[in-house]
Amino acid sequence: MFKGGENQPASSSLGTALAQKVQKVEKGKWYRDGLRFECTQCGNCCSGDPGFVWATKDEIGRISEFLGRDDGWLDRKHLRRVGLRYSLTEKANGDCIFLKREKGKSLCSIYEVRPVQCRTWPFWSSNLKSRTTWQEAAKTCPGLNQGRKRDFVQIEVLRTQRRV
Ligand code: SF4
Repeated sequence: MFKGGENQPASSSLGTALAQKVQKVEKGKWYRDGLRFECTQCGNCCSGDPGFVWATKDEIGRISEFLGRDDGWLDRKHLRRVGLRYSLTEKANGDCIFLKREKGKSLCSIYEVRPVQCRTWPFWSSNLKSRTTWQEAAKTCPGLNQGRKRDFVQIEVLRTQRRV
């Protein structure tokens, strides 16, 4: 922890101010002591009710390259336009088009290049709004409150990558 005082150099005062700011932000967040999450590969988050898996043009380009395409894009089977944005598509049963089910496990076939929306689950602003919203998400995602603990800073880095 930073320590400050009148005899401290300017950089130390700056450090103190920053530390105080972080402490203030931390204090107001219910998850300041961190949260646990470990994916069980149940596939619930990649299936079910219709939804959107938003992908930026850069992310689409990376998926395209990963799939061995040379046009930097995806076909209509995998990508749809929604207003000004793009979303990955779903199969008729609601599974994400890139979800594979093998031996009782659900696997993402583009895991290495999956969009930020998938990378940052479940640390989304919508889930982190309150303990209640977090517990609501835990009803469908058995990985919540299990396994590895993320500290406050790690959670905030994930949460602020994209607003979901
Ligand atoms: S719902 Fe949770 S536990 Fe199941 S695959 Fe998605 S992240 Fe993993």
